Amino acid sequence: RFITFEGGEGTGKSTQIRKLADRLKAARMRILVTREPGGSPGAEIMRHLVLSGMGKLLGPEAETLLFAAARDDHVRTVIQPALNQGAWVLCDRFADSTRAYQGSLGRVPIGLINAMQRVTIGDLKPDLTIILDLPVEIGLQRAALRRGTGTPDRFESEKLGFHQGLREAYLKIAEEEPARCVLIDANSDPETVAGRVWSAVRERLLP
Ligand code: C5P
Repeated sequence: RFITFEGGEGTGKSTQIRKLADRLKAARMRILVTREPGGSPGAEIMRHLVLSGMGKLLGPEAETLLFAAARDDHVRTVIQPALNQGAWVLCDRFADSTRAYQGSLGRVPIGLINAMQRVTIGDLKPDLTIILDLPVEIGLQRAALRRGTGTPDRFESEKLGFHQGLREAYLKIAEEEPARCVLIDANSDPETVAGRVWSAVRERLLP
């Protein structure tokens, strides 16, 4: 089974992935937790390139190609082998992040994004995508708290309108693909949100 988690900054994706992994482990499932951009040694190098100041030197198309290269490596060396072995793969961000960040916000033509998708993921589609939804002001506050005195990455430091656009892009994806996506209200304490995630997983993927 392949489950992806999506959402804007500070929506709690990594916390919720950890909690879901714990529940699935308790149910004796084999679990692999991974993330994008990154998730494999080669892709982590590309993550560093894009998220550091160096990323600003790239235009949106070049950036999309770099994210695609990272995903290609991640899918081939980590995700697909784990799925082939029967593990449950929980991934923090996947192709919907490209559609939201580079597509809706970066204004990269959808044709390029779809072409890259065909090369990198082919027919691989998540069985379930959890989209965590939260008012952007709250998400940004949470992200700032988590960061402490560290510097925001280059996307976190974008203006409010950017994050608003991101939230809308995710709402649209959830609306367009209800068979794959579940929209979850993330504006509650972590345990409550984890309960909502667990209900969605049980309903959709567990017999
Ligand atoms: O989820 P996480 O905070 O680790 O993601 C790292 C950053 O990469 C985020 O700030 C997100 O805005 C950015 N990103 C992106 N395009 C993607 C995936 C992630 O701009 N396709």
